[in-house]
Amino acid sequence: MAIWKRVLHNFLDLFLADRCCLCDRPTTNVDRLCTSCEQRLQTHQFSPANQFLTDEIPVLVWGLYGGSLKQAIAAMKYENYPQLAAPLGRWLAQAWLNSLKNRRPKSSRSKYAVVPIPMHPEKVKQRGFNQAELIAKSFCETTGYPLRSHGLARIRPTQAQFGLSREQRQQNLARALALGKDFHRRPPQYPVLLVDDIYTTGATCREAVKALQKHQIPVAGILAIATSRTDS
Ligand SMILES: [Zn+2]
Repeated sequence: MAIWKRVLHNFLDLFLADRCCLCDRPTTNVDRLCTSCEQRLQTHQFSPANQFLTDEIPVLVWGLYGGSLKQAIAAMKYENYPQLAAPLGRWLAQAWLNSLKNRRPKSSRSKYAVVPIPMHPEKVKQRGFNQAELIAKSFCETTGYPLRSHGLARIRPTQAQFGLSREQRQQNLARALALGKDFHRRPPQYPVLLVDDIYTTGATCREAVKALQKHQIPVAGILAIATSRTDS
C-alpha cells in the first residue's frame, strides 16, 4: 500500500476505531475483530490430529486457508490491518502449546528462539510492517519465548512465489535468505522456530532452514497460520 494511502487509512481509523476489521460492525474488542468474525475464523482451525504437515522438519499450521481466514490474512497484509496479527499469533501459540502437552511429559520445559520469515527491507517499507514478524511477536507474548526478529535477513528481493514452477521457485529463492544480525555475534541459546503467515510449498521455509543450518543453528519447527495443503 502506498504511504499516502496508509496515512489516510490511519487517519480514518481515528473515527472507525471501534469497528471490526472484517465486517465493519461495531466492536469493543481490542483486536478490532467482532465476536461473530472471531467465531467464523475459529471454524478454520485444524483439529490437533491434522495440524502437523509431513515434511523434514515438523510444520504446525493453525488452519485451512480459505473463506474468512483468507479474508483476514488479506486484510492484514493489503488493507493495512496489522492488528489482526495479534489474535492470529495468539491462536498459533495456543495450538503450539497444546501440541507440546501431547508430545512430551509436562515436566520438560523447552524454550525456542522465534524467528519470523523476513521480507525484503524495500517491501517492509512499502507495507509498513512484516506480518510474519507481528504474528511471531504475538506468539512470543503468549509462549514467553524470545523473539529474534532479525535471526534471518532477506538479502535479495524475490518475486511472489505464486504461479512459478518448482524450478523457478527454487531459482527465485536461491540465496535470498541469510543469517540475520541477531545471530551474527552469537548463535541462539535455543533451537529455532520459524514463523510465517502462509505455508504453501514450504520452499521459503526450506531456504530459511538451510540459511540457519549453514551456521549450525538447529531448527526445531516451522509454524504458520494457514495452508491450503491437507496432506497431513
Ligand atoms: Zn466482524
